[in-house]
Amino acid sequence: MEVSFSKEVQLLRLGRGDTFHGEGILAITKALLQSGVSYVGGYQGAPVSHLLDVMVQAEPYMRELGVHVQACANEASAAAMLGASIHYPIRGAVTWKSIVGTNVAADALSNLASPGVTGGVLIVVGEDYGEGASVIQERTHAYALKSSMLMLDPRPELANMVRMVEAGFALSEASNMPALMELRIRACHVRGSFECADNIAPQVSTLHPLTEPAAFDYAKLAHPPVTFAQEKRKIAERIPAAQRYIAAHGLNEIFEGRGAANHEVGLIVQGGLHNVLVRSLQQLGLADAFGAAELPVLALNVTFPLVPEQLAAFCAGKRAVFVIEEGQPDYIERDILATLHRQVDRQVDRQVDRQEMQTRIHGKDLMPATGEVTVEGLTAGLVGFVERHLPQHAVQGARDWLAANAQRRVAVATQLSRQLGTALPARPPTFCVGCPERPVFAALKLAQQNVGPVHVAADIGCHAFATFEPFSSGHSILGYGMSLASSAGVSPLMQRRVLSVMGDGGFWHNGLLTGVQSALFNGDDSVLLIMKNGYTSATGTQDIISTPDDEIKAREPDKQQSLVDRNTTIESTLKGLGIQWMRTVHTYHVSEMRKTLEEAFTTPFKGLKVIIAEGECQLERQRRIKPWLAALLKSGKRVARVKYGVDEDVCNGDHACIRLSGCPTLTLKDNPDPLKLDPVATVIDGCVGCGLCGENAHAAALCPSFYRGEVVTNPTVGERFVEALRAPVRRWLHLV
Ligand code: SF4
Ligand code: SF4
Repeated sequence: MEVSFSKEVQLLRLGRGDTFHGEGILAITKALLQSGVSYVGGYQGAPVSHLLDVMVQAEPYMRELGVHVQACANEASAAAMLGASIHYPIRGAVTWKSIVGTNVAADALSNLASPGVTGGVLIVVGEDYGEGASVIQERTHAYALKSSMLMLDPRPELANMVRMVEAGFALSEASNMPALMELRIRACHVRGSFECADNIAPQVSTLHPLTEPAAFDYAKLAHPPVTFAQEKRKIAERIPAAQRYIAAHGLNEIFEGRGAANHEVGLIVQGGLHNVLVRSLQQLGLADAFGAAELPVLALNVTFPLVPEQLAAFCAGKRAVFVIEEGQPDYIERDILATLHRQVDRQVDRQVDRQEMQTRIHGKDLMPATGEVTVEGLTAGLVGFVERHLPQHAVQGARDWLAANAQRRVAVATQLSRQLGTALPARPPTFCVGCPERPVFAALKLAQQNVGPVHVAADIGCHAFATFEPFSSGHSILGYGMSLASSAGVSPLMQRRVLSVMGDGGFWHNGLLTGVQSALFNGDDSVLLIMKNGYTSATGTQDIISTPDDEIKAREPDKQQSLVDRNTTIESTLKGLGIQWMRTVHTYHVSEMRKTLEEAFTTPFKGLKVIIAEGECQLERQRRIKPWLAALLKSGKRVARVKYGVDEDVCNGDHACIRLSGCPTLTLKDNPDPLKLDPVATVIDGCVGCGLCGENAHAAALCPSFYRGEVVTNPTVGERFVEALRAPVRRWLHLV
């Protein structure tokens, strides 16, 4: 991984008396060290990759503290790592992207939560939910409920987030429950400051290891018959212990609200949504510019378990309470409704005035049932709530604001479609400029022209961009590294061979075992295409076991080339497993890739055929060579940059090249010929000269309008001399 986090690593060293300024996710990372964590692990994924990335790069400092950092193979291995805290009083933290990562980790989490933990356990999950999410719309909350794990959802303010990390470990130890902490993308990137404490070197650490293993204790195993007793303990002991701790230590926050007249109503909000709530209240004139609200607010920094007495006390005497909860199902709202109902019954038993508990609960009846809680969506819900229960408060300003937003969107869309002469086209995400995976899908398009359309089992990773235009490739995505496994049902039932596409990240995460091993065992006759770009690029280009060594990357002559061929761990692993048909093709060689795909689809060889598509992630390659090129330029040395272009006089305007490439720098411009109507193709400045344009033109026999040029900085004496001869000829020919 070429991204440097050296500044962030320095922030981890801050201590008592220092003020931390920065992003939420880094504050969480620092808080782990302030909590005396002994081990940290995880699997990368937005929006929490930063936690592990920084920890990995802070390895020398971690060694000083004695903290073990593990870049895990997947989320299941990260969750299993937490087994260290079952017997031993040591704190551990892991991180991954949810919901997908939690799904992968689910088995280990069940087996962790059943015996429970002795040392505090914190699982920091990136809750990638709602607008802009890249995963299935499901909630991690479900796992907390089903496995009886704590669910923390801290209000996104740095001091509070840090407090909740430290409290999360203590709560986990007090209740023996593992703690999940969900962080939405905005919480990870919220900026702020907090007063630091010193980092705590853990008592059990790599510097001070345990001298003896724990004594055998069957009760610590997730295995019948003790699992029956463990289930009872979850309900009878652990959850009540957690509730006592939450109440005693004020983990949830109550903001009293400034308007005395408004105390007849209240708001209960997931902590992570507090900032959205404040912004919405401002639209209604119910909060000031500093976030102080007029209405009482209960911010749930812990959303499971809820504390019945706290809920009852908050709702007592209120006509109505609005529960603000993201997504579906509405677990918290239902929990509150059930809790209050039971609370009423208990109070009636003790002859407390039943009327106190007749609070009307609103939530999803006033809010969209699905999707992210946005300021606009919540404001609309609050307008409905205030109109019903605070009729004296004017809501017209908020209504006008919502209407103006809607009108502005329509006006912008209308204006743009008027200019374009058509409805605004969708702008799906796509591969980076020069991505090595784009040419493979161009080759696949061409191969299918010859062999016919094939069923494509797609996967998670950058190659999933090929599901968008112009490739529209892929019939299903069943999970990270699951493409080959997902083809097992369809492959034997399909006349033409099925193609499974997988990245090297997915291959190591899951694909090797669930896909390759099973395909070999069952004698599947299908094709597996592995994108070997050298990194888990889609999650931030983290290193994997098949990443080229740093020492190779540092070697001068190789710096401009793709280096992924220097690590053949994937190939040797596949050979070791018994793969007999395997081809390695450079991704930018479109003709060769096309032929190899055609061969794989038609060869008489029965069995799994593997194509390794080699080409270093362009993003990572550019990061790697940029400083090197800058140093060359600074020292006055020759640097040549390849650029492709389209000769506008030759371009016939059919845009076949664009349909085959999808590179954002290969686009359109007005035809300079007044007699031709169709716009011509053009290559704009962002071209990194990957060569795909030339390869596509050759492989698909496109019109000969593409040319390759070199932009040379600090040319040699010979080049200057040749240029001095060429320039006048070009001017004479009116070429420039
Ligand atoms: S990050 Fe790398 S692999 Fe992913 S789209 Fe960009 S260049 Fe391609
Ligand atoms: S050569 Fe073509 S495909 Fe490659 S970066 Fe340039 S315009 Fe894009």
